Amino acid sequence: MAITPGLAETGFFGSFLATFDQAARHTKHNPGLLDQVKYCNGVYRMRFAIRMEDGAIEVVEAFRAEHSHHRTPTKGGIRYSEDVTQDDVMALAALMTFKCALVRVPFGGAKGGVRINPQRCTVGQLERITRRYTAELLKKDFIGPAVDVPAPDYGTGPREMGWIADTYRMLRPHDLDALACVTGKPVEQHGIPGRTEATGRGVCHAIEECVSVAEDMKSLGLEPGLARLRVVVQGLGNVGYHAARTLQERGATIVGVAEREGAILRPDGLDVDEVLAWRRETGSLLGHPGTESFDRPEACFGFDCDILVPAALEGQIHQGNAGQIRARIIAEGANGPVTTEAEKVLLEKGVLIIPDIYCNAGGVTVSYFEWLKNLNHVSFGRIGSGPQHASSAVHFSPASEELEHVRRSLADTMAFAYREVRDTWRSRALPDLRTAAFVLAIDKVATNYEAVGIFP
Ligand code: NAD
Repeated sequence: MAITPGLAETGFFGSFLATFDQAARHTKHNPGLLDQVKYCNGVYRMRFAIRMEDGAIEVVEAFRAEHSHHRTPTKGGIRYSEDVTQDDVMALAALMTFKCALVRVPFGGAKGGVRINPQRCTVGQLERITRRYTAELLKKDFIGPAVDVPAPDYGTGPREMGWIADTYRMLRPHDLDALACVTGKPVEQHGIPGRTEATGRGVCHAIEECVSVAEDMKSLGLEPGLARLRVVVQGLGNVGYHAARTLQERGATIVGVAEREGAILRPDGLDVDEVLAWRRETGSLLGHPGTESFDRPEACFGFDCDILVPAALEGQIHQGNAGQIRARIIAEGANGPVTTEAEKVLLEKGVLIIPDIYCNAGGVTVSYFEWLKNLNHVSFGRIGSGPQHASSAVHFSPASEELEHVRRSLADTMAFAYREVRDTWRSRALPDLRTAAFVLAIDKVATNYEAVGIFP
């Protein structure tokens, strides 16, 4: 894949550094402390050989970056992509640090990457690569319930997390907390209900919070509330699909979607599940009955809509296409989807950007619940003392009660964090929501470092 124009010069980590520096100017922390808060604490780059089905041997390159140890464990997803670089995982790890701080998840940031194309691997190859990657991480202490806890990201999901947990447990059989070494596991393998859809649902909550502020909607020329809003989603993977589906359930109209092969538009509204069923059947979104088809995914940026949710990859909205965007709000489901140059163009046009470090924090929020559940060795709600438990000391909560609990806590977390970010934006007269989110998160991490994290 070609490097997007906006990321070509600085790289993804360079673009993070620019955002950090711009926000740090609005804080009063010691410059040395800000350097510690900004840079990556550790990066592990590895290569290992995998035997393929035809007997060939292939060398796989992989990474894990731990950005900040101000709180441990560190936390962040694992990306499977043939384009992933060390620079990418450093940037993504950095975003995790500030994301966790914003939603009060007591972890430092981390991220992993394996340079493979999962679509061209068999399930057997993927399993061997995942297990070997886990063993390599363990060898250097880059995984463990107390040190670094991975989760899914682009190209990975519950299946891979299940293999990681199993490998770790095999290699550390006496670790009672072994299952807390990774989150996003299948529910049957000690995962938590609600984790798979958490990032996408969180994106929907973020949008709901944003559009509920009448004053901000008025200045964008929009009505408050989701009901009349027209939404376009780029990327119908884990984040994009669940964001689109939840938005649709809550009354918004999905007018366009894009995947690798192109984009489709239907101003009256699409049904996301029908679109995906069509894609499974035909191998493509294009030609879905009643829609207009475009063979470039980027076409979705020019669709007439109120909200655009980029949920594919970083650097998708750049200087070359920012001018086409007609949405009034961009909700960053992906990490880093808008380059620094594109952001300038969009802010000048008056577009409100709900920044990634807040907008897609629902996943890590529910990962935190899963980690707690694994450390407690008990499901949420199984043991309690409330009125519902009066007849019995031990209450066996059905999975639906746990799901309800997770969803409520996720919604509360996203609502509370939005109010904090918006208050910071307005009360400190900051230029935009991203700067406000970073200022708030930098304050939290720096204060924590000052309290406990600096060796005298
Ligand atoms: P995923 O692999 O499940 O889905 C990504 C989708 O984007 C795929 O369906 C892919 O085909 C599609 N895509 C790729 N290039 C595209 C293009 N040019 N146009 C349109 N679609 C394209 O990945 P995901 O987990 O949904 O992650 C997506 C983004 O969200 C990434 O930036 C990731 O870092 C971020 N994120 C993920 C999580 C999580 O919990 N999975 C949490 C926070 C942030």
